[in-house]
Amino acid sequence: MTLPQKLPSPADFAHVKDWVFDLDNTLYPHHINLFAQIDRNMTGFVAELLQMEPDEARILQKRYYHEHGTTLAGLMLHHQVDPNAFLERAHAIDYSPLLPDETLGAAIKRLPGRKFIFTNGTVAHAEAAARALGILDHFDDIFDIVAADYVPKPASATYDKFASLNRLDTKNAAMFEDLPRNLMVPKALGMKTVLLVPRNLGRAILETWERVDHIDEDSVDFVTDDLSGFLGRILDEAA
Ligand SMILES: [Mg+2]
Repeated sequence: MTLPQKLPSPADFAHVKDWVFDLDNTLYPHHINLFAQIDRNMTGFVAELLQMEPDEARILQKRYYHEHGTTLAGLMLHHQVDPNAFLERAHAIDYSPLLPDETLGAAIKRLPGRKFIFTNGTVAHAEAAARALGILDHFDDIFDIVAADYVPKPASATYDKFASLNRLDTKNAAMFEDLPRNLMVPKALGMKTVLLVPRNLGRAILETWERVDHIDEDSVDFVTDDLSGFLGRILDEAA
């Protein structure tokens, strides 16, 4: 199932004072696929921790992801893993596929109000990625999995924590995300929601993309495959 892309009208975002962005596959396109590297690192961590073959470690890694929301949550619960050791290893990746995105940087800079990165990754990962994209300086703060007490989106407690920490008036905020399930709580809190989808949504990409058959269309206000273009449209027409 794919949703039709919808173009914003300036009035839709005129009230927005706080702009909240997921990091991975949102601030950079899906095809960059940094997650493939993170995924391999997690498998390596589990294999070494439990002295397993990679195939076996991978099965356990995915089982914990499905049972506990993240691989880390399962490792903490069942194996008393130090979350920092795991997160450091998971995010020890090559950021060179990310290139400076001047168009995106200029658009984010021009957005009126505060800008946040809200990620299930770490601050270090978000900083490294945003720095590589040349957009880090445009953000007021980064809320990560450590700040969330290791409880990932889409848990509503984590959105509450993010909102109260930053005194966010959710009715005057917008959220940009590539995972539909992570937009359900924001929508319920009154935020404008924008779903990022892969460019040239083809068969090969669809196979690796998170399954989208459970999209609750009511929680998605807009769909786009071009974040810069989307923001430019809001800004130019609002000017
Ligand atoms: Mg994401």
